[in-house]
Amino acid sequence: MNKKKLIAGNWKMNGSLAANESLVKALAQGVGAPACDVAVCVPAPYLAQVQALVSGTPIALGAQDVSQHEQGAYTGEQSAAMLREFGVRYAIVGHSERRQYHGESDELVAAKTAAALKHGVTPIVCVGETLAEREGGHTEEVVKRQLAAVIHVNGHCISEIVVAYEPVWAIGTGKTATPEQAQAVHALLRAQLHHAASDHAAGIRILYGGSMNAANAAQLLAQPDIDGGLIGGASLKAPDFLQIIAAAR
Ligand code: PEP
Repeated sequence: MNKKKLIAGNWKMNGSLAANESLVKALAQGVGAPACDVAVCVPAPYLAQVQALVSGTPIALGAQDVSQHEQGAYTGEQSAAMLREFGVRYAIVGHSERRQYHGESDELVAAKTAAALKHGVTPIVCVGETLAEREGGHTEEVVKRQLAAVIHVNGHCISEIVVAYEPVWAIGTGKTATPEQAQAVHALLRAQLHHAASDHAAGIRILYGGSMNAANAAQLLAQPDIDGGLIGGASLKAPDFLQIIAAAR
């Protein structure tokens, strides 16, 4: 099976017209013909700008969220159909910062996943435990519950989604899960996917996210069930992001 790894940058709420231009130009110049798929998930106001900047490059465009609604009186939201108009290929869904600061529930994450799939946007569904949950021995229960919520999305095959395991305690903290810790959870998620859709489980990409950087990417990406990375801080520095891309083969 030819399953390319995926390296996706999550810029979060960072950037400016000038900074985006120099970052994406540097990425486009350095990326060559990558062995993996590459995406940048940018703040909504910059979708048009970055769509133009990545045009003709191997870099795909991503969004950081999507509304569960089709259209209407939902101030501040962006629909999947709107994202598609800007060539958006991926949308992060259920990032821990959305779950934590915006109260997103598993049900809401599932509805957003369905909305993205309906319009041909690939959801990158984030799951992950907090430090307290890990220390309380609840990692398995938490990630399985979060994944279970999106496994049966009406009318769509689970193989259409990308999963990202992002332990909350490793996001933006500089604390990375060890390759063994990450692999252990990825293997659990793979087994759950296998149970739900045995024909497709091996083909579903499970990314790791949480302080992945140029120094630790190769070891993490060498794990059998780690199929790429969702990269926050290091995706804002072209040389670092390019090194991570180069490590994904
Ligand atoms: C993220 O925000 O998805 C993330 C993994 O951030 P960082 O790489 O900065 O930990």
